[in-house]
Amino acid sequence: MRITKNGFVYQLTFMASVFPVNCYLVEEEDGVTLIDAALGFCAKGILKAADTIGKPITKIVLTHAHEDHVGALDALKEVLPEVPVYISTRDHRLMNDDRSLDSHEEQTPIKGGVPKKCKTRANILLKEGDLVGSLTVIETPGHTPGSLAFLDLRTKALIAGDAFQTRGGIAVAGDIKPWFPFPAFGTWSKKTALASAKKLISYQPKLLAVGHGDMVEAPLTVMEQAVKSLERKVV
Ligand SMILES: [Zn+2]
Repeated sequence: MRITKNGFVYQLTFMASVFPVNCYLVEEEDGVTLIDAALGFCAKGILKAADTIGKPITKIVLTHAHEDHVGALDALKEVLPEVPVYISTRDHRLMNDDRSLDSHEEQTPIKGGVPKKCKTRANILLKEGDLVGSLTVIETPGHTPGSLAFLDLRTKALIAGDAFQTRGGIAVAGDIKPWFPFPAFGTWSKKTALASAKKLISYQPKLLAVGHGDMVEAPLTVMEQAVKSLERKVV
């Protein structure tokens, strides 16, 4: 596991050289918020990282219901049974393996591995504008219908889940990067992802932190380039 710190954000990277999977600890005064739960074997590393920071994990927040973002959830909940788990109302359905689509959504199959064996369910369902500590909730459908991003209001650090990737070059969800195509393979609606990417740019983030790839400081220019790249393919 590799830990990279930027302000209040600690990026925890597993399998950095092969298939990098990130989760995040965001520091608050009284504890840390875990964003995403990586893969099954990552629980120990996540707990150790919180120990090193010296603050307890007080919240577990999920950007979306894909296997590589909720893998260690059951193991973590065994150690931290009191800690609340948050997900979007929409992806809560996906956690229950309900792949049905709503009438306003693009009628194309939801992709990606949804955790079949995971027993833990969220206690708190999130929607646009909710606050989780210092983080505001931004609905960013596209990779999954209920994907969420989180903006730290103190620093404008944006934890965007798989709405963007930075491994293999920056890309909006759904835009295939030959060196790391996997997030694109798992993306439900490119068109919807594109609209969400533009929405994220409108928040003028100062740091971009994603599920797969390194954090990027002052990311606006590259985010705009990524939008243009997908726009050429979708529109
Ligand atoms: Zn995903």
